Amino acid sequence: MLRVGLTGGIGSGKSTVSNLFREKDVPIIDADIIAREVLDIYPEIKQNIKNTFGEKFFDEKGNLKRREFGNFIFKDEIKRKKLEQIIMPYIKKEIFIRFDSFEKKGEKVCILDAPTLIEQGIYVDMDKNILVWVDLKTQIKRVVERDKLGQAEVLDRINSQMSLEQKKKYVHYIIDNSKDLLTTREQINKIMTSLEELRG
Ligand code: ATP
Repeated sequence: MLRVGLTGGIGSGKSTVSNLFREKDVPIIDADIIAREVLDIYPEIKQNIKNTFGEKFFDEKGNLKRREFGNFIFKDEIKRKKLEQIIMPYIKKEIFIRFDSFEKKGEKVCILDAPTLIEQGIYVDMDKNILVWVDLKTQIKRVVERDKLGQAEVLDRINSQMSLEQKKKYVHYIIDNSKDLLTTREQINKIMTSLEELRG
């Protein structure tokens, strides 16, 4: 089975593209969903978060108060790194468990949808990687419309991430999602053909 990483930048259209692959019956592993699920699968993560950041972020049932905790670590790079060190090994482990289970089911291609595929070094474990790219103007316009934010705020968010230009260097396929969905669909079809040829 081919393990394929899919990434992008804020508002570049990763979710849109991922849904188009799903429509083609390609199984998708969503790293954001896994990042939430590991907290319930591996109780030691919550314990470690408690030990590192304090009990105050947990409610009486022992659930993490996600919003409060998110606000607490959001703008603090050191805290964010600490949390990543705690949680990332479990996320990676779980991703590979799910890849293996799709492989056992006989799937030929499986896509990992991961916003930080490159930053977290997960791309090196993939057979192929795909970047969903858009030009900056389109990216700003789409995020302004989707998230009802000002242009400056959107630009701030874009600039806080690794740029789409930098990400280009790490991938085998680039989907230009700046145009209409039909154009994006055509590129997805070409990639599917290429992956199927590779798989033989
Ligand atoms: P994030 O990582 O920030 O959640 P994303 O990369 O998953 O974003 P999407 O939510 O898929 O991006 O797309 C951003 C916005 O642009 C959405 O409102 C989506 O409907 C719209 N969009 C995506 N692709 C296209 C396209 N080809 N044409 C027009 N609109 C698009």
